[in-house]
Amino acid sequence: MQIETYSLGIGDRFGREGLAQLRAVQMAERAGVVVVPVWNKSFREHSLIGTKPDDVRAEADAAVRRGGWKHPYHVDADHIDRHNVDGFLAASDFYTLDVAEFIGAAADDAALAGFVREMAPFKGTLRIPGVEAAFDVNDAVLEKIGRTYLRAVAEAGRTYRHVAAAKGEGTFIAEVSTDEAAEPQLPFELFFILGALAREKLPVQTLAPKFSGKFLKGIDYVGDARAFARELDADLAVLKYAVSVFGLPPSLKISVHTGSDKLSLYPIIHRALKKHGAGLHLKTAGTTWLEEVIGVALSGPGGLAVAKRVYQLALPRFDELVKPYATVVEIDRARLPPAAAVEGWSAEDLAGRLRHDPGHPAYDVNLRQFVHVAFRVAAEMGAEWTGALEAAAEVAGRCVTENLFDRHLRPLFLGG
Ligand SMILES: [Zn+2]
Repeated sequence: MQIETYSLGIGDRFGREGLAQLRAVQMAERAGVVVVPVWNKSFREHSLIGTKPDDVRAEADAAVRRGGWKHPYHVDADHIDRHNVDGFLAASDFYTLDVAEFIGAAADDAALAGFVREMAPFKGTLRIPGVEAAFDVNDAVLEKIGRTYLRAVAEAGRTYRHVAAAKGEGTFIAEVSTDEAAEPQLPFELFFILGALAREKLPVQTLAPKFSGKFLKGIDYVGDARAFARELDADLAVLKYAVSVFGLPPSLKISVHTGSDKLSLYPIIHRALKKHGAGLHLKTAGTTWLEEVIGVALSGPGGLAVAKRVYQLALPRFDELVKPYATVVEIDRARLPPAAAVEGWSAEDLAGRLRHDPGHPAYDVNLRQFVHVAFRVAAEMGAEWTGALEAAAEVAGRCVTENLFDRHLRPLFLGG
């Protein structure tokens, strides 16, 4: 199974917007670009919300059937490891093997020696076509890279073989992710990581590195966009070269785990893809849930009251809700609106604050991040939330489709 050139990872916390999400990629298709949808949900997200991988499969299949999608689509076991992958074996055909926690863990001596030996042809001045800088590679450099990444690569190999034994080689797509590491991976490190993955016989098709800058949940990129552009440019060149020298799958492409909504990077990514003729997997996550809150608020007085209640119930639980996401949000708690202030808001007040429109005078970056991680409260509200969402299905679905197409697919894949 080969991943297509362009794919978009989409999350759907409550599993009700599959068709609305599909409509967005169908709009892109009509505009001339096939972007394959990949429904992703991590073990953590399933645990927090009480869903199962099979629910995502059922949602994806139903959306595709109802929407009449003729192209491939996938279900991603997102950020899994050896210990929690079994629950995904039936449902998923895309596996994001997350090995960030093994970066820097002690590598096996024999494996390290083997790696340094096999990478010897690259010693000296390593020039990668399309990358301006050259790298000085010697035993010490290779050993350092090996000590940093070999254990993580070995772990990816173990999980890969576990999935392959259960499902069969070639029946699924393997992604390797190191995006939740503490430090970004530099382009020439990616080259040798890919070399190590090839030695592990892991047919990696998408690689999700950690880039420089901050990829906070649900809000725009925080960092030096020009540095990101240089990094991505070099990474794309490295991948192309690695495919040819290491014999990796020709479909290998970069996966950008955005944490959702890196709007200011989309034009940069679009230009880089065009320049290199490269493919891309872009993983988003929680945007859809925020569009549901907006849609529920806009659906009428009853919906508005429920949307406000989600926030009012969440506010006193700030620490608990933010904790699982502590490293990927930056919320100025003191600037969150007090529960009482929310009472007086109109639906437009709430939508203006929450919607990702940085140019809107009411846009509130703290509120947006907080509501983004507060989905658990809505899950616990049970029928009060799902009933409101049901009643708001049409307007919420429209918000989901428009958001995905206008803010994500169009600038990223169509360029404008
Ligand atoms: Zn990730």
